[in-house]
Amino acid sequence: MKVFKFGGASIKDAHGVRNLRHIVAEEKEPLVVVVSAMGKTTNALERVVNAIWLRETEQALREWDLVKDYHDNIAREVGVKLSFEVPLFTTTYELYDELYDQFVSYGELFSSRLVSLYLNRMGLPNKWLDMTSLLLTDHSYRRAKVDIFESEERLRRAVKLSPADTRLWVTQGFIGGTTDHKNTTLGREGSDYSAALIGNFLDAKSVTIWKDVAGILTADPHKDSNAQLIRELSYADAARLAASGAQIIHSKTIEPLEEKQIPLYVKSFVNPKAEGSIIHATDKKLNVAVSWGK
Ligand code: ASP
Ligand code: MG
Repeated sequence: MKVFKFGGASIKDAHGVRNLRHIVAEEKEPLVVVVSAMGKTTNALERVVNAIWLRETEQALREWDLVKDYHDNIAREVGVKLSFEVPLFTTTYELYDELYDQFVSYGELFSSRLVSLYLNRMGLPNKWLDMTSLLLTDHSYRRAKVDIFESEERLRRAVKLSPADTRLWVTQGFIGGTTDHKNTTLGREGSDYSAALIGNFLDAKSVTIWKDVAGILTADPHKDSNAQLIRELSYADAARLAASGAQIIHSKTIEPLEEKQIPLYVKSFVNPKAEGSIIHATDKKLNVAVSWGK
């Protein structure tokens, strides 16, 4: 079993969704595909939430329609149809953060469903897994804490109960749910962390994060043209780098992987054959200057 995580930038349009299919089709191992929301959807959904909170219902509907149209257009381009029951705009919430999670979680629900339908259509049969009922969390909305023990049980059971010939699962990063069926989110950019947890729970051989850069770099390549690829990193160096504010991987990603000594690959979705970076158990020390920072 392997885990592939695709971030929002990698699936921001129909071309990205087709590219994901090519990458997934190359893999021979049973695979769990974890996706973020497409493109800037999470930001767009935050605008929906803000409008609902301010009771600007028309504005909320307009913003929501933009999100819906964006997904419907991509779905149409790749030949599938998305349909979803969505939460009511008129429900009142006492807590902003609770409202936030009920709506913002739809970014990942939409993207994962779209990807799942498309892969099915292209002859890559897969099972869609719903993390709002598998990744059990507490009620700390927007920074929900995962119940590791129960979530592991649930995910293992769901994978085991899939039709016997299932070799591909598609699911969401970033989101979970409570025992009383409220959606929760794990903190912005939390999909990497979800992928690491899923890898840990399923004893994956490896986890791969597919990004719009070549791997782990010494600096932000969008700002520094001398950014160098770091081919190999220890868990400790990667954790330090992530905690320092480098926009590389979410800082909570390393621990679940290190616990089970699962290697983490960071690779380019533009150039999937290129080597990228590996984070694993190694004595090698990071010996280049890194100039990320916030
Ligand atoms: N979609 C969420 C966000 O943009 C989670 C993620 O991308 O990892 O923060
Ligand atoms: Mg994102």
